[in-house]
Amino acid sequence: MALDPGFWRRKRLEEMTSEEWEALCDGCGLCCLHKLEDIDTGEIVYTGIVCRHYDQARARCTCYAERHEKVPDCLVLTPERVARLHWLPETCAYRLLHEGRPLPSWHPLRSGRRDSVAEAGVAVAGKVVSEADVHPQDWAQAWLTAREADEADNRDGKDAAP
Ligand code: SF4
Ligand code: SF4
Repeated sequence: MALDPGFWRRKRLEEMTSEEWEALCDGCGLCCLHKLEDIDTGEIVYTGIVCRHYDQARARCTCYAERHEKVPDCLVLTPERVARLHWLPETCAYRLLHEGRPLPSWHPLRSGRRDSVAEAGVAVAGKVVSEADVHPQDWAQAWLTAREADEADNRDGKDAAP
């Protein structure tokens, strides 16, 4: 069934149908990255290592229907959990709507195209490595390498600014 245009502007998260709820996910893959938690501060940082079931070429989970059997700690998002999960990315549609903010113009529900997520630089595809290709003992190093690359990108971006 076709989605009601603009439903996300009129409905609260808990009022959405399952079809509407699923359509909010832009497939960015940020929540599929492994995360590290600072045990002193509780700060969560994203590593550059993505779940082995995330298909970077298609920007989606390859086992969505049975993801909990394959990855027991893969969370089912619900409105209640969205309210509690402080680590959800700033760009995540569930977090944005929960915080009363609009969906960005690159969101597929607004752009009409899934490619707009990657074009906006939000998708992880092409920027991360699969956990299948990194030994767990090397995760910390892979994260540091990704973080250094990010910081270098940010510096270059600032240097290039007028
Ligand atoms: S961070 Fe949000 S929008 Fe991105 S893949 Fe996860 S649930 Fe979907
Ligand atoms: S099982 Fe699928 S939805 Fe869950 S973390 Fe892995 S790729 Fe993401």
